[in-house]
Amino acid sequence: MIRALWFFLKLAVVIAAAIWLVEHPGSVRVNMLGYAIETSFTVALLIGLVALGVAALGYRLIRSVLRTPSRIRRHSRARKRERGYRALTQGMVAVAAGDAPTARKMARKADGLLNEPPLTMLLSAQAAQLQGDDRAANEYFTAMLERPETAFLGLRGLLTQAIKTGDRVEALQLARRARALQPNTPWLLATLYDLEARAGDWASAEGTLQQAIQAGAIPTEDGRRHRTVLLLERSFEAERRGRSDNALSHAQSAHDLSPGFVPAAARLARLMVAAGKQKAAAKVVERTWRQSPHPDLADAYREVLGSYDPLTRVKLFEKLLTQAPNHVESHIALARIALEAQLWGEARDHLNRALAIEPSRRLYRLFAELERSERHDEAAARDWMAKAAAAPADPAWTCAPCHAVSQAWGGLCGHCGAFDSLDWKAPTLAVSLMEPGHGHAHAAIAKSPVA
Ligand SMILES: [Zn+2]
Repeated sequence: MIRALWFFLKLAVVIAAAIWLVEHPGSVRVNMLGYAIETSFTVALLIGLVALGVAALGYRLIRSVLRTPSRIRRHSRARKRERGYRALTQGMVAVAAGDAPTARKMARKADGLLNEPPLTMLLSAQAAQLQGDDRAANEYFTAMLERPETAFLGLRGLLTQAIKTGDRVEALQLARRARALQPNTPWLLATLYDLEARAGDWASAEGTLQQAIQAGAIPTEDGRRHRTVLLLERSFEAERRGRSDNALSHAQSAHDLSPGFVPAAARLARLMVAAGKQKAAAKVVERTWRQSPHPDLADAYREVLGSYDPLTRVKLFEKLLTQAPNHVESHIALARIALEAQLWGEARDHLNRALAIEPSRRLYRLFAELERSERHDEAAARDWMAKAAAAPADPAWTCAPCHAVSQAWGGLCGHCGAFDSLDWKAPTLAVSLMEPGHGHAHAAIAKSPVA
């Protein structure tokens, strides 16, 4: 409606102007090069308008002709970029599919077409990694360190490579550099904590572990157990340095954190005995026995009661039985201490009760020992030993990742160097017994290839 009005308004103005021109005819006279041109003002005005229109058209034509090359250039640049991104996408798909040759081909193609080093370098590095060309991958990742926008990606790549090749010293350095760039990256915190723990840097590992738990990289329950193990290792370290007060306080913290964790209770009890706190030590073992009866705890209890004569020890061991009356470990512990005191009847009684709960290899061995010691009955002992040989293996401290069995508990697997990897369970593979590690011995072990 408004447009129509506007049109009529313009029309009215034009008509009014035309009428005015007709009513006031003027004339224009031009003298040029000896010619004299005379015409009416209306015609001169029309000629002027046409000339203006032609000039404007000419200008637009010339401008568009002049602009054509740059437009062609722009068009071909856009096509090049499009092809580059297509190559990049195909390369990433090839990486995901594990197709190394295509990934590498597409990486080269994308690199030639695109001016996007961060993207093409990452693809090239991943393609090289996929092809097993670690040196080329390392070169790409190292080149990525030079740009701030790709430095973190480069560090992550180099870190993965270092962990793969087992170079934990290098890996630890790289992880620390990466944390300086991105302090709250969950996977990085979990990796850094593991590297610090494996390197025996217990205090740093404890700090990083705390951050990793806060960042959600490690579940709280697992974190508590890891922290317990770190505290125990700090306790071992303090003892090696002659700081028995620190050794005791770290063991106490570990036990407070996980009261049912056998290695913490056993260690705390031993350190308490060494500090002359025999009664407190006995209490620690008894309380933990209620939750987790375990042969290591029985050994610690025997040391706690080391100053008593064998017969009194048997009497005191009954306190463990009252904590967990129907547990096989309670009866085995009492049978062993009774054997030591040569209380044959009591030993046989507890062995029979243990056998009724759960037969095991070590139980058959204890029967054999009883037959030898009490009756010097070698034939009966051999029968029990034959049964022992046929029985499934007894539980032992077994490394979850590598299945190696340790004679004693330790924070680090003596075979693969993994931290907090030992579980009390029957070994699934026949692996020789080995000493567990405590920190400094691991620098060499940690570098050995993982089985
Ligand atoms: Zn292991």
